[in-house]
Amino acid sequence: MALIVQKFGGTSVGSVERIKNVARRVAKWKAAGHDLVVVPSAMSGETNRLIALAKEVQPHCDPRELDVVASTGEQVTIGLLAMALMELGLKAKSYTGWQVRVLTDSAFTKSRIISIEDEHIKSDLKAGYVVVVAGFQGVDAKGNITTLGRGGSDTSAVALATALRADECQIYTDVDGVYTTDPRLVPEARRLRTVTFEEMLELAGAGSKVLQIRSVEFAGKYKVPTRVLSSLTDPALPVAEEGQAGTLITFEEDPHMAMEKAVISGVAFQRDEAKITVKDVPDRPGVAYAILGPIADAHIDVDVIVQNVGHDGMTDMTFTVHRNDYTKAMKILKEQVQPHLKFRELSGDERIAKVSIVGMGMRSHAGIAAQMFRTLAEEGINIQMISTSEIKITVVIEEKYTELAVRVLHKAFELDQA
Ligand code: ASP
Ligand code: MG
Repeated sequence: MALIVQKFGGTSVGSVERIKNVARRVAKWKAAGHDLVVVPSAMSGETNRLIALAKEVQPHCDPRELDVVASTGEQVTIGLLAMALMELGLKAKSYTGWQVRVLTDSAFTKSRIISIEDEHIKSDLKAGYVVVVAGFQGVDAKGNITTLGRGGSDTSAVALATALRADECQIYTDVDGVYTTDPRLVPEARRLRTVTFEEMLELAGAGSKVLQIRSVEFAGKYKVPTRVLSSLTDPALPVAEEGQAGTLITFEEDPHMAMEKAVISGVAFQRDEAKITVKDVPDRPGVAYAILGPIADAHIDVDVIVQNVGHDGMTDMTFTVHRNDYTKAMKILKEQVQPHLKFRELSGDERIAKVSIVGMGMRSHAGIAAQMFRTLAEEGINIQMISTSEIKITVVIEEKYTELAVRVLHKAFELDQA
C-alpha cells in the first residue's frame, strides 16, 4: 500500500463528465489498496474567466482581492470531485488551502509555500477517506487568501506529497508525458520514460511547458518521485499499467540507465523573446550592473547575456527579455540608464527565438556544441547568441527559423530513435 498524491489539471476536470472520470480513476487506485490525496485545478478556462471578471471591475486589480477571486475556481472542483467520489461509494472529503492550512508568504498572485499542516489529512486518510485538496491556493500568516501563480496546482501537489512523505506524486494532464520536443512541431517527437529533475528544470526554463517550474524545483529539492501522465486514457486502465505510464522524474542517475540514455534528452524552444543591444558603453567595473540593475528592479527577467570583448575602452552588451517586457526595458534604458552611462546606441530585435538542447549526457561527451552549431550552419541558420550550462546549450536565432532549427536538431541528435 502506498500513499499517492494525484493532481488533475484543468482539462482533466473541465466538465462534469470529466470530473466523474477522474473519480473513477481515483476509485480504481483506492480499490488497489492505496491512500489517495487528490489535488484538482479549476475547470479549464475558469481561472482566466475569473481574472478577466476582476479586471473588468478594477483594471489594476488589488492583488489581495484578485487572489480572493482567482482562488474560487478550485473550490468548485474540490467539492464536485468529493461528491463524484461519494457517488461511487467512497468516503471523500474536500479541503480548501486555508482549511488544510497551506501556509504561504504574502506575495499575492505568486506566493510561495512555507509549510503545510497535515493533521486533518492524515487522520482522514487513516479513517479511509480520499482527501481532496484545492490546488493553487494557500493562506498567509495573517489569514489572507493567497495563490501560487498560474499553473500553481502542480506545486500544491508536489508540496503536499513532500509534507505527507508520499510515495509518489502523479501529475495527470492532457499530454501523456514529457516529450523530446513539442510533438506539434515535430511529429517524430517521442515520450521520455524518465527524465532527471535537472533536465526537467532546464527544459521548463527553456520553454517546455509541461509543469510549473516551481513544482519541479520543489520535487528536486525534496526528492519527491513525480510522474507526469495522461488523464485522457481509459479510466479503467489497470493500476499496474497506469503506474508505469507517462514520464517519471528521477533524481540519482542509475549508472546503467545513464549508459543507455541518449546524450541529449530534449530540444526546447521559446519564441516570445526579444533582444536588446547597448552599444559602446565604457568597459569598466559596474557597467553590467548599471545596465541590468534597473531592469531587474522593474522585475523584468533577463535571460541570455553576452558582453563583447572590449575595444578602445568600450564594449557592447546584448541580452534577451520576454517580448512582453521589451518596450518597458527599452524605456528604462533610454530614460534611466542613458543619462548616466551615455552609451552611443541602443538597438533591439523583437523577432528572435531561443532554441536549447538539454541532456545530462552532454556532461561527459565532447563536441555536442560543435555538432549543434554544424547542424544549424548546414541549414543556413545564423546563431546570434550562445549560452551554456552544464547540461544545456542555448542559441538565439531569428524567430522564423525556430521550427526548422528544432526539427533538424531533433534529428541530428537522433531523438526520433527509441
Ligand atoms: N487554476 C490555476 C491556473 O489556471 C492553477 C492551475 O491550473 O494549476 O493557473
Ligand atoms: Mg494547469
